[in-house]
Amino acid sequence: MAITVEAVPCLEDNYIWLLRGPRGEVAICDPGEAGPAIAAVEKAGGQLDMIFITHHHGDHVAGVAEVKRRFPGAKVVGNKADAHRLPPLDLAVSPGDTVGFGGSAAAVIDCPGHTRGEISYHFADGAVVLCGDTLFSLGCGRLIEGTAEEMFRSLRALAALPPETLVCCGHEYTESNARFALTVEPDNAALRARAEEAKAQRAAGRPTVPTTIAQELAANPFLRAPDVATFARIRAAKDNFR
Ligand code: ZN
Ligand code: FE
Repeated sequence: MAITVEAVPCLEDNYIWLLRGPRGEVAICDPGEAGPAIAAVEKAGGQLDMIFITHHHGDHVAGVAEVKRRFPGAKVVGNKADAHRLPPLDLAVSPGDTVGFGGSAAAVIDCPGHTRGEISYHFADGAVVLCGDTLFSLGCGRLIEGTAEEMFRSLRALAALPPETLVCCGHEYTESNARFALTVEPDNAALRARAEEAKAQRAAGRPTVPTTIAQELAANPFLRAPDVATFARIRAAKDNFR
């Protein structure tokens, strides 16, 4: 267990991820709001080593500047290709690169679809992936800048990670995603069980994430789509779902 993760709620339904390494190293991912991020870091020991960014949307980066002012030693990590619209980066990375944290290496995975420059970070050691708004539990990000083909490929890359990998996504959307997913696969037992579980978790005031790649492969219709045409059809239906 090299890296551990914790979901820190912020804004309406966003999650900042708090990561801890074996020797007290601390990182956060996507601080859409500074207050909760700073409080979580203080609680974790008051030292911050890194700030990972998955994409440029405000609900993922708006807190970066203030967090960096509070913890000036923290290195801000993001996609070099999107540097022009991200907060100033200390470490500009590209898909295929690895970033060291807590004695392990995170692989940078290209995940265009939601935005053109979106990336995920996969820590093989702790079996963790930080995937922003690409993969959600029982859903996936909206195609704001990318095509269905790009998103399909991005999801495929995440689906290929080890099944036990913890999926640390950017939003608490599981219950509303479940309502749509059940219209696509009403007879999927894993999906029905997951929908019940999410309902109970929310009723108890707990996050429904992280989920795992295995669980999403069993229950998430977007990850289960066999081809890009099917994926595109499901994505379009979700966009029009009320
Ligand atoms: Zn976004
Ligand atoms: Fe978002």
